[in-house]
Amino acid sequence: MKIIQIDKGQWVSGLNQAAAAYRLFGPVKEKEFHSFKPLTNGLQPDLSCLNTRLSPKSIIYPQSEVMFDYSLDERREDHHQLMEIAKDYSPKAVVGIRPCDAKAFVMVRLNFDTPDYQDPYWLRAYESTTFIGLGCEAPCSACFCTSAGCGPYHEEGLDVLLADAGDRYLAKVMTEKGAAFMAAAGWKTAADGQADATLAGMRQAAEAKITSFVPTDNLRSLPNNDLYNATFWEDVSFACINCGACTYSCPTCWCFDIQDETRGTSGVRLKNWDSCMYPLFTLHGTGHNPRGTKLHRVRQRFMHKLKYFVDKYDRGIQCVGCGRCVRLCPVNIDIRRVALMMNGFAASGEACAIES
Ligand code: SF4
Ligand code: SF4
Repeated sequence: MKIIQIDKGQWVSGLNQAAAAYRLFGPVKEKEFHSFKPLTNGLQPDLSCLNTRLSPKSIIYPQSEVMFDYSLDERREDHHQLMEIAKDYSPKAVVGIRPCDAKAFVMVRLNFDTPDYQDPYWLRAYESTTFIGLGCEAPCSACFCTSAGCGPYHEEGLDVLLADAGDRYLAKVMTEKGAAFMAAAGWKTAADGQADATLAGMRQAAEAKITSFVPTDNLRSLPNNDLYNATFWEDVSFACINCGACTYSCPTCWCFDIQDETRGTSGVRLKNWDSCMYPLFTLHGTGHNPRGTKLHRVRQRFMHKLKYFVDKYDRGIQCVGCGRCVRLCPVNIDIRRVALMMNGFAASGEACAIES
């Protein structure tokens, strides 16, 4: 691990140099919102953006990805055969990703890279990507990363962590991928001996600005069945319109569906994001739906994030505290409030008192 100093005057030229070896992505403002875009034709990342409206998960895991195409034309020798679509797995780098979003990829990997199953599309895209993170100096009011196993200068999942130190960036280089990116950008000036202390001070100051928390200490010991049958789910799910904004904006949500789309005699097989908030998600061919009401679906989302994941992986909750679902839910369903209810759930079956 070493710390490199990047004078801001060398920032743009370094990125332009790195672009010869990497496909660059970064936060870009479009109308009133930021989103991660390819940085082509001299486009620069807007590092003043605190958090993009949607997470950068689509850089690794596109919302809709064609895996195969096929022909149903019986005159063709290859009819009914699936042909794999060639993809570009050349090196890419995500510049200005926030620590919560980088950690989210590490969590999502638990699902896409198991001893029994590996998703080759997700894994190849992830492994060909270098993550150049930017510490958050002034976290949003809805951010609660420090109580979600993360933080404004968290390093897990990052190859380089940048800190904005006025006229320069301090770049903590943590992996070989990170070192290769810094070399490609031509940034090599070692920071002075104070850099470590400067970074630690910035981290501490940023963490002190987080004022929003989720309590999670009781979640592991609570019996699943008791929580599942708790009476508060009616209240939690009452206003939900099952729009799916919470799951689509979430960097740690990973559910997908495979669909074939056929036109005439040609077709494609797609992997599309899906959401546990949609009625079709669990609809059986028989017409039976085990999660047939919004209460079932809202409960599933929170039980998965705050209980099943905790029990299965013993790595905290399936949430990095980015606050997107809190900001974007049109009816103000707030995971912090639900965590408080679940965590405070007592053996008597009562949720702890909530101030609204
Ligand atoms: S964003 Fe809110 S209303 Fe939409 S599905 Fe999620 S919890 Fe329900
Ligand atoms: S559950 Fe909400 S706060 Fe947590 S990572 Fe997902 S979008 Fe962010």
